[in-house]
Amino acid sequence: MLRPKKKLYIKTFGCQMNVADSELMAQVLAQDYDLTKSPEEADLYLLNTCAIRQKAQDKVASLLGSLKTLKQRRPQMLIGVGGCVAQQEGERLLRLSPHLALVFGTHGIYRLPQLVQRATQGRIVDVAFSDGYPPLPRRCWQPGQVKALVPIMQGCNNFCSFCVVPYVRGREYSRPPEHIVAEVRGFLAAGGREVTLLGQNVNSYGRGLPAAVTFPQLLRQLAELPGLARLRFATSHPRDLSPDLIAAWAELPPLCEYLHLPIQSGSNRILAAMKRGYTREDYLHKVEKLRQACPGLSLGTDLIVGFPGETEHDFQDTLNLVREARFDVSFSFKFSPRPQTRAAAFPDQVPEEVKADRLSRLQALQAELTLAAHQRLVGQVQEVLVEGASKRSPQILTGRLRTNQVVNFAGPQELVGRLTRVLIIEAHPHSLRGEWALPPQSS
Ligand code: SF4
Repeated sequence: MLRPKKKLYIKTFGCQMNVADSELMAQVLAQDYDLTKSPEEADLYLLNTCAIRQKAQDKVASLLGSLKTLKQRRPQMLIGVGGCVAQQEGERLLRLSPHLALVFGTHGIYRLPQLVQRATQGRIVDVAFSDGYPPLPRRCWQPGQVKALVPIMQGCNNFCSFCVVPYVRGREYSRPPEHIVAEVRGFLAAGGREVTLLGQNVNSYGRGLPAAVTFPQLLRQLAELPGLARLRFATSHPRDLSPDLIAAWAELPPLCEYLHLPIQSGSNRILAAMKRGYTREDYLHKVEKLRQACPGLSLGTDLIVGFPGETEHDFQDTLNLVREARFDVSFSFKFSPRPQTRAAAFPDQVPEEVKADRLSRLQALQAELTLAAHQRLVGQVQEVLVEGASKRSPQILTGRLRTNQVVNFAGPQELVGRLTRVLIIEAHPHSLRGEWALPPQSS
């Protein structure tokens, strides 16, 4: 007789990479555990953590503290912490949280079944880095799943002076292209339509692989797969955005007209201190080339305000760059000193109130630009991949345009998971409202 499986609950913090890692955790443990949405019934509770800013790390510490009560109610439950905070803090986490059984680093995911088994005998820490990509388990897709996150590489070699990623995720290594193609093929065979390729710097994909393959070559291989309607990727380093990659937008129909290209600052002095390897002029030149190759391209970015030594003049350069590049969306943050990074020890740290003031001015400017971008879409009929019912009402469907904006519209449930066409009738700060324009495409 089959032994009933135990229950696994995963709480995920941070970026899309962490979301993909959590899926991988569920998968490597699938033989013994079924996922549950209720922490109250978990036999194994995993926190997948983010260390990119102190605030993200504080949230983990606070949740970990509150789990003490749950552990008292369910003494047999094992609690584990994985991801970037686990990699960074290691043993220290065990000392801070007596109810914690397991700490595993960013490369420990592949060893989870053995680690969980060992943690039932005694508390353990595993933050070792592995060499290269181990073969991943065959992915299982959810019924009706139309979008998938597909990791193509791990780690980063860039060591930007503010960033903790190379320390917590290790050096860059790429996944063999044949594994990626097989995974995407399996997803499409199961009815999937949209794939987002993930890595810290996808533009340098392929370095170190035995067979020479570049990121644009990988895109071309994937774009040929029958059934793939939409192809996206994140994140790109502006320095490594090659002419060949820019040309891909003119060439590959599934490649969506959206690019997330983090600039971080508009000041050349600050970009040099950040060790980004490009100037604002280089960046704007690439944006111009991108818009020539793909006139409807929607552009997103990341920005840091209050980097050590940033003056009001530097900040004005950032505001000007944001206006010039006309970002459709940006994710902006106050500089947060991270352990081990060089910028944490830089002199001239900017006071918190100055950072907060700059952040609110930057976000106000971005809000104007985003709304203007949304208003330009009003009156257009756009292709939408319908993702489900909106949170507000089951009668309202929600989906995304190829350019990544969210659109809500009234339509039949049968549209969920399909491509359809929607007339955009209203622009809001964070989304669009539309009217179902045409029956779904048969594709
Ligand atoms: S390229 Fe990105 S992930 Fe790599 S160090 Fe710089 S900011 Fe961090």
